[in-house]
Amino acid sequence: MNQLPFYAALRRKFSRLAGALEHELMPRRCVFCGALAKSGEGSICTGCAGDLPRLHNACVRCGMPRDAASLAPCIECQIAPPPFYRLSAALAYEFPIDAAIRAFKFHRQLFYVPAFTELLLVTQEILPVDIDAVLPVPLHRWRKLKRGFNQAMELALPVAEARGIPILRNIHRIRPTPSQSGLDARARQKNIKDAFVLRGRVRARHVLLVDDVVTTGTTCKQLATLLRKKGVPQVSVLALARAVGPA
Ligand SMILES: [Zn+2]
Ligand SMILES: [Zn+2]
Repeated sequence: MNQLPFYAALRRKFSRLAGALEHELMPRRCVFCGALAKSGEGSICTGCAGDLPRLHNACVRCGMPRDAASLAPCIECQIAPPPFYRLSAALAYEFPIDAAIRAFKFHRQLFYVPAFTELLLVTQEILPVDIDAVLPVPLHRWRKLKRGFNQAMELALPVAEARGIPILRNIHRIRPTPSQSGLDARARQKNIKDAFVLRGRVRARHVLLVDDVVTTGTTCKQLATLLRKKGVPQVSVLALARAVGPA
């Protein structure tokens, strides 16, 4: 455990070197418009980054955008606080990030991953420093087998590495729940009830759930409630995108 930061630093150094070499051999292009990356630009060009659907004045508890900035949670969160302490999402689930996430998830367009990572690493910076474990929202093994990977794991790995904290792997989705897409809030709640189980113990004090999209928040609420029931004092959420319209 003590050597984790050393190896993480070494991996980061090698990946920077590999990145620089790759850029020389195969110049990087913006994942959204295809423009060649200028010096200092990552996987998203400055123009596209400026056009991305940001969540303005997002509520710290639920991530929903608001008209005015405030450190206090929104009215909805004050009336019915969610079981998680903070929710931070990089973008609103709108074009072009919605299309990019679907291409990544359902068509294995893995070239989006560096851009997603850049967005998540910036977004996680505002989350508490006491987070000591990361939980990618688990995928049922049948769905993982079909998809070939868990998208949440791909997003969570660089976050865990940047923070030098472990990934929890002992929480499983036990019901092969049908896809949440196209279901309304009530149907989602029913669909996901008791969908997760913890095998063993979680010693972490503040777990960060990572997922690609937060729609109604039902999945994160279920997981946060389970973790808190099992003795984890605090849970926060990091997502690439947050749905802001009606579910
Ligand atoms: Zn671009
Ligand atoms: Zn809120």
